[in-house]
Amino acid sequence: MTINEIQQGTKAVWSGEEEYLVHGATQVPVVLSVAYGYHDMDEWYDVAIGKKKGHIYGRNTNPTVHAFEDKLKILEGAEAATSFSTGMAAISNTLATFLVPGDRIVSIKDTYGGTNKIFTEFLPRQQVNVTLCETGNHEEIEAEVKKGCKILYLETPTNPTVKITDIARMAKAGQAAGALVIVDNTFGTPINQNPIALGADLVIHSATKFLGGHADALGGVVCGSSELVEQIYHYREINGATMDPMAAYLILRGMKTLHLRVRQQCTNAKALAEYLETKEIVEGVYYPGLPTHPNHDIAKSQMKDFGGMLSFAVKGGVETVRELLPKLKLAHRAANLGAVETTVGPARTTSHVECTPEERAAMGIPEGLIRVSCGIEEIEDILADFEQAFEQTQATLKV
Ligand SMILES: *Cc1c(COP(=O)(O)O)cnc(C)c1O
Repeated sequence: MTINEIQQGTKAVWSGEEEYLVHGATQVPVVLSVAYGYHDMDEWYDVAIGKKKGHIYGRNTNPTVHAFEDKLKILEGAEAATSFSTGMAAISNTLATFLVPGDRIVSIKDTYGGTNKIFTEFLPRQQVNVTLCETGNHEEIEAEVKKGCKILYLETPTNPTVKITDIARMAKAGQAAGALVIVDNTFGTPINQNPIALGADLVIHSATKFLGGHADALGGVVCGSSELVEQIYHYREINGATMDPMAAYLILRGMKTLHLRVRQQCTNAKALAEYLETKEIVEGVYYPGLPTHPNHDIAKSQMKDFGGMLSFAVKGGVETVRELLPKLKLAHRAANLGAVETTVGPARTTSHVECTPEERAAMGIPEGLIRVSCGIEEIEDILADFEQAFEQTQATLKV
C-alpha cells in the first residue's frame, strides 16, 4: 500500500507527517525557533544554497510548516506545495510571481471579494490587463482565453451564490492558449474536488476555512508542479508572507478530521437546502447539490460531494434578514466560513460589502441574500433552529 492508494480521508489523517515525528512523537511538534544552528561550516553552506535538506531561517522554511505543505500536496495530488500567512497572501503572491506589466489575466466576476479587489484595484495599477467573464459562461471564458493570456484564474464553487465552472473544460482552453490555469479550491476542499487531476496547473486554498476548520488560525497554500511552486516559494521567502508555525500546527490538527467534518457539512447543507426550498418566505436557494442548480450536472461530475456552503434569498430583503438572523440560536453571525459551527451572514455585509446595492443587483446578489456555512451539528437541531427563527420572523413581519 502506497500513499497514493489510500483514500483522501486516510491521507488527511496520516500523510506528510512521518519525516517530522522526532523523538518518537506521534504528533508533529511545533518548532518555534526562528533560526537553525550548524557546527559544520560546510553543512551550513550546503543547506543555505539548497544542496542539502535542512532549515536556516524561519521566513524561508520551518519543519511544522513543511509538514502542513507535505500533507496538502499529497491531498491535492501535486508534486509540491508552498504555504502562506493567509489565503489572500497565497493568491497575491502567486499572481505577483508570474504577472509583469503588459500581461493579461482572464478570470470570472464572482471570485472571492479580496481576489476581486486584486483584479479591479491592484493589478491594473501594475499595468496588468484584467478581463472578468460572467461566472459559469464557459463560451465567454473560452473566447477570452483564446485571445491570449498569461493566467486563467478560476474559483468553483463561488461565493456566495455557489456558481460552478467546468474545470476540465476550462483547463483545456487555458492550456491550448499557453496560459497557467489556477483554481481556488477553498469551497471545494481536497476531499470533494481535485483540480490538478482535472487539468489545472495550480490549486490554491485559504487554509483558514475548511482545512483548519475551527476558525482559530489563518493560512494559505498553493499546490502544483515543483517547477511552478519553486518560483512561488522564492517570491514568498523573499517577500515574507510566511505561515506561522503555530498556525501550521493548528491547521494540521484540524486536518485530522477534515473528511469527517466535510462529510457532515455536505450532509447538513443538502438537508438545509432542501428544507429552505419548502419555505414560503424563501425566494431562492443556491446549492450545487440541488437538481434545480443550473450547473448541477457539472458539479456532480467534478465534485465527490457538493460542499458545506449554500445561500438563500428571503422575501422582504434587508428587513427580513435583520429580523431573521438574530433569532438563530445555533449560528454565529460572522464573516468566516468552513468552521465546525454553522455561520450565517448577509452577502451585503460579508462577501460583497464593498459593492453598492446596484452593483450587487448587477451581479445577481439580492439584498436579502444570506450565506450559510454549514457546521457539523446534528442536522435536526439546525432545521429546528431555522424553523423557530422563520416562525418568529413571519409573526413579527407578517410576510
Ligand atoms: C477566505 C477566502 C480567501 C481568502 O483567505 P484568507 O485566509 O481569509 O486570506 C480566498 N478565497 C476564498 C474562496 C475564500 O473563501
